[in-house]
Amino acid sequence: IAPSWLDRSATRAVAAALHGRFHFVGGCVRDAVLGRDAADIDIATPLPPEEVQALAEAAGLRTVPTGIAHGTVTVIADDMRFEVTTYRRDVSTDGRRATVAFSDSLAEDAARRDFTMNALYAAADGELTDPEGGLEDLAAGLVRFIGDPSRRIREDYLRSLRFFRFYAWYGDAGQGLDPDGMAAVAANLDGIPRLSAERVGAEMRKLLAAPDPAPSVSAMAISGLLPLLLPGAEPRFLPPLVHLETEAGAGPRWQRRLAVLGLEDRTEALRLSKAEARELAVLADALRADTPLAELAYRHGRAAAEDAALVRGAGLGAMPPDWQARIALGEGQRFPLAAEDLLAKYGQGQALGAALRRLEALWIAEDFRPDRDALLVIDRDGGV
Ligand code: ATP
Ligand code: MG
Repeated sequence: IAPSWLDRSATRAVAAALHGRFHFVGGCVRDAVLGRDAADIDIATPLPPEEVQALAEAAGLRTVPTGIAHGTVTVIADDMRFEVTTYRRDVSTDGRRATVAFSDSLAEDAARRDFTMNALYAAADGELTDPEGGLEDLAAGLVRFIGDPSRRIREDYLRSLRFFRFYAWYGDAGQGLDPDGMAAVAANLDGIPRLSAERVGAEMRKLLAAPDPAPSVSAMAISGLLPLLLPGAEPRFLPPLVHLETEAGAGPRWQRRLAVLGLEDRTEALRLSKAEARELAVLADALRADTPLAELAYRHGRAAAEDAALVRGAGLGAMPPDWQARIALGEGQRFPLAAEDLLAKYGQGQALGAALRRLEALWIAEDFRPDRDALLVIDRDGGV
């Protein structure tokens, strides 16, 4: 492989510091094989974490002891971060996270990874090592557990969700899901409720951000996993949403995909941030209340209104009429009245707020046309 990050001076500096005793591993290698760029670079090494740290610092690189106990040191070169993790093997588990011991064997390190396509290794010169047959599976779009799927799921139930996450991104819809993996997910649902919302949320965001998550999500529903993670979720509107997104040239946003799964509040289940929860509340409200798109664009901005239009369109089977023009109209409008304009008439208090809201609603209903003077006349004449 020859991804662009392999050639960066930062990568070379880290490679030199570790004296070549490492492999790139996981997502960055998998994605390089497919010609895709990588977000983060993971490195596997037989060196113990203290030695990684010492070598990197001796070479003048900054390190962060991200998870020394788990064998992970972050090495920073230029503006790039490299997660360097000592080879590990699974020893025991409580089903929520595998417990690991250090190892000096790449084969052992590969065997404790989740899927064959995630156990691809590349040396500093780009030469691949593929101990689990991941290349063939990757080419076939087959997400395959390493080892016995049921056993691997019971070590860490998050792997069930990751199975669908990687299927959404790398699976071949024509060939479908690996039937052994699918059966193992369905047979091992009991540990799912104990997963932390934080880990589930991170995987779910990634799954829903795939170009087309619809086949994966419907398989998740069939396996019984989806209703455990997102009670009440209904995948039926995902395919029309993805279709409309493609037509509109809109990027894949997980927030939209989550919104069309239903109106339930997912703040707890996915550990949504305040900003994310607010965004989803706007979408849920846009679905429930049929607020005009122009008003949504005025209140929440263009991006939120476009999301609302797509989400609403998924339910309708087509984009709302004139959606682009309606959003353009509302975007950037400023209500021309302020509290001071009405203070003399209403005094400080609830009546003032109510009058402002009344006039604002009328102004919106009139397509933002009435100016300040017109609104004051309307208010004086008791028009609203
Ligand atoms: P992404 O591109 O989304 O970062 P990734 O493959 O790098 O994908 P990560 O979650 O960053 O996924 O994990 C890095 C690697 O660590 C994986 O490729 C896999 O080899 C291993 N891994 C991560 N989580 C697990 C798990 N729960 N069980 C076993 N191996 C795992
Ligand atoms: Mg990664």
